Amino acid sequence: MFSNTMNIRFDSHLHSDFSGDCDTPAAQMIERAIALGFDGLCFTEHEDPDAPPSECDFSIDFDRYFSRMSELREQYRGRLQIGVGMEFGIQPHLPETLARLSRKYPFDLIIASLHNLNGMDPYYPSYFEGRRERDCYEEFFRVQYETLKLCDPSSFDTLGHMDYIVRYGPNRNKYYSYESYADFIDPILRLLIENGKCLELNTGGLKYGLGEPNPCGDVFRRYRELGGELVTVGSDAHEPEYLGYRFDYAAELLQNLGFRYYTVFERRNARQVRM
Ligand SMILES: [Zn+2]
Ligand SMILES: [Zn+2]
Repeated sequence: MFSNTMNIRFDSHLHSDFSGDCDTPAAQMIERAIALGFDGLCFTEHEDPDAPPSECDFSIDFDRYFSRMSELREQYRGRLQIGVGMEFGIQPHLPETLARLSRKYPFDLIIASLHNLNGMDPYYPSYFEGRRERDCYEEFFRVQYETLKLCDPSSFDTLGHMDYIVRYGPNRNKYYSYESYADFIDPILRLLIENGKCLELNTGGLKYGLGEPNPCGDVFRRYRELGGELVTVGSDAHEPEYLGYRFDYAAELLQNLGFRYYTVFERRNARQVRM
């Protein structure tokens, strides 16, 4: 039986004004997490080298980031666990950049996310112009798989919002399901499982009105069937009100599929937390 108490009290994907597309001071996110009764959160700021030109600068000032985070950790000591992470935008030519950053800085968590492919960002409608939506979605999954294969597994911890592209397609997830893209999704799931990497449940999809998280529930069903057990949970909040967004839904979905734990990272070490 599902209870109303929040079963997941750690948000492993959120942004602050250290990300180019976010104006929220980190302290506001922390205050919100405390108000919700959370145990912790992990900031995962955008680092997207070679992102296509846009109004946002998707690169982190790492020295300023780590120094501000250590002040905040001091200030909130004993009240909230504060993780310092990165959401790295993977691309086929960037595995070495990811590996170098993962060794250089003392991250708690590294999310590998595919945001850009072939020099374009599907966030913009131009990505879909003149092409079949299905071809675009297939390409996204194919490039994601090929790129992940190139990345050293020790350079990241979890795969961010695996079906991110369905947030932005002309018909969004109307014609999308796990089954209809199984041939493209299964290899990604198998790769994560073989390498002991987590699959992220990103509740941003619910915020975007998809009626599903990213990836959708059936992808988690399949992940479990294939033997996957490691799941991180994040809201992808850019504003305080979305921190921990629909974590009740996330917990219920995972529990119904037989997951009993979610994974939290500290200094890149995984800890299983009972839901
Ligand atoms: Zn992302
Ligand atoms: Zn994000």
